Amino acid sequence: MKYSQGTAESAELLRLTLQKMVSQPATFTPPNYAVWYEHLAGINPPLSEAMNKLLDSDAKLDDDTIRKFYTQHVSECSSDIQKVLRGGIKQLLNKLSVSTAEATREALQFGHRLQTHGDALKGGLDSSELNTLINNLAGDTGKMHGSMQTLEAQLQTSKQEVEKLNQEIESARAQALTDPLTSLLNRRGFESKALPVFTDPASKRNGFCMLMLDIDHFKKVNDTYGHLFGDKVICAIANTLKSKVKGQDAIARIGGEEFAVLLPETNIKGALAVAEQIRQAVENGKIRRLDSDEQIGGISISIGVASHTEGCNLEALLDQADKALYAAKQNGRNRTSIFGCQ
Ligand code: GH3
Ligand code: MG
Ligand code: MG
Repeated sequence: MKYSQGTAESAELLRLTLQKMVSQPATFTPPNYAVWYEHLAGINPPLSEAMNKLLDSDAKLDDDTIRKFYTQHVSECSSDIQKVLRGGIKQLLNKLSVSTAEATREALQFGHRLQTHGDALKGGLDSSELNTLINNLAGDTGKMHGSMQTLEAQLQTSKQEVEKLNQEIESARAQALTDPLTSLLNRRGFESKALPVFTDPASKRNGFCMLMLDIDHFKKVNDTYGHLFGDKVICAIANTLKSKVKGQDAIARIGGEEFAVLLPETNIKGALAVAEQIRQAVENGKIRRLDSDEQIGGISISIGVASHTEGCNLEALLDQADKALYAAKQNGRNRTSIFGCQ
């Protein structure tokens, strides 16, 4: 078998793999894990060559590429990786069960020895015999204490390893749902927060709305002031969104300069009011340049609003908001349009 990594090394590879996987768009499937694992373990040179070539270029590791790499370089050993994972966990459990069995055996022997000392006491002892017995008792207790401490230390180490792994998985999960530039949700995070709203009774009763927002003439902003200033604008708009909508609302950066906001339990009138507040705040805002104190104004956004109707799913509602956004652009930008009223 080509996987010879032990528990510690494979756990480290698992952590590394998770970190790497979240930085790429491919979904977190077993083939994706296998590709990263073999690459990072350095056990599959042809795969590593292909991976390095891809990572050195601007291309992204998407599902199609993973499928290709997996089929070309990994597939025949996919069951091995499962075995190695299972093996790692089994080894950890084995180690623990050996320590536990040892401690149990020690405890039983200790019990027997206590019994023997107790029996000896019944017979009556002179002071030197009593002294020996006390010494033996102290020795046995010390040994017992030692083996219990060893077991406790081993349990503590295993607990820490599991907790560390858990934290890695938790932070990888959070990272996978967050846009790194703005700390807003990314598209995947948005879906996971937005989907429950479609079945939430209060939102079904009171209605809910989607806003789609896009920065106007953003290409020109980048061209005039530079890409880094453009990033600053994206962050400033993200902060405006955070300050203008309630905690329960899902805000996401779903594209380079596009945002979506889902407003649960909000009717079209309320959604329009929120959209206008955001739009006006951006219109009135000023952002300082990176290389001087000059404040840049005149940045605006266009917004499309769509209200949920029976039978409309997330994709359809986003599409409606996008159509309204397109109308806002067509009608001159820096404005809000409502789906169905363009
Ligand atoms: P419109 O008003 O029609 O939306 O015009 P636009 O120029 O904003 O739209 P267009 O789609 O032509 O250009 C979008 C630009 O956004 C192009 C791209 O370089 C820029 N952009 C996308 N993502 C980022 C990013 O993360 N940072 C920066 N600085 N620019 C980005
Ligand atoms: Mg756009
Ligand atoms: Mg734009």
